[in-house]
Order: sequence, then structure tokens, then C-alpha cells
Amino acid sequence: MCLFCKIVAGEIPSTKVYEDDTILAFRDIAPMAPTHILVIPKVHIPSVDGITAENSAVVAHIFETIPLIAAQEHLVSGYRVVSNCGQDAGQTVPHLHFHILGGKELTTQMA
Ligand code: AMP
Ligand code: ZN
Repeated sequence: MCLFCKIVAGEIPSTKVYEDDTILAFRDIAPMAPTHILVIPKVHIPSVDGITAENSAVVAHIFETIPLIAAQEHLVSGYRVVSNCGQDAGQTVPHLHFHILGGKELTTQMA
């Protein structure tokens, strides 16, 4: 089982900020901004490359929920959503996740 599947299963603890039947959001263990949250599907999808017509409903649901999480976290001045896919992007956990970064003015350097 991958690290984030273990978090979904409750085998590894996390600081949850949102959960429903199909997705989970929790605080990043090594935050890169004052607010740094990871949003994941409960089903194992390896990365953005693994999104298909069959599983994309949960991705849509993640993006419908991100504004709710941002509001809950009082990210009134804005925030950034990032997903690292594969080696060149430095993906370290092979389970699809979207970073929500905010709580400060973020660097304009994207890559
Ligand atoms: P990425 O490098 O895009 O694959 O993002 C993986 C993220 O998972 C990193 O920002 C890590 O800090 C974070 N991370 C790794 N292990 C944990 C954990 N047990 N709980 C919360 N976040 C974690
Ligand atoms: Zn997984």
C-alpha cells in the first residue's frame, strides 16, 4: 500500500482538514507555506498521468472542494494549486495529490 493509501486507511496519522466518502485533505508534513494542504482521492491513482474518463469524476470533485477548503482556511488573498507528476516534477509520493499553498504572497517563480 502506498503512503497516502495508508493515510486513507488510518494506518499513518494525518492532520485532516476535510474528508468525505471519496476524498481527503490533510496538512503537509513539511509545509512550504503558512498553509500547505494536500488533497487526495481515496482511490489510488498514481499521478495526473493516471487520470482517465473512468476516474475523473473524483478529480472534478477535488476541484469543486478546493474552494471550500480555501475558504475554511481563510485564504482570502488567494492560493496556488500544484500537482507534481513524475520525475522531472519531483513527485515523491506515487498517489495523485494536489497541493494547496497559501497564507503568504507566493513566489512568482513557477519552474
Ligand atoms: P510531491 O513531492 O509533490 O510528491 O508531494 C508529496 C508531499 O507529501 C510532500 O510535500 C511531503 O512533504 C508530503 N508528505 C510526505 N509524507 C507525508 C505525511 N506522512 N503526511 C503529510 N504529508 C506528507
Ligand atoms: Zn495510494
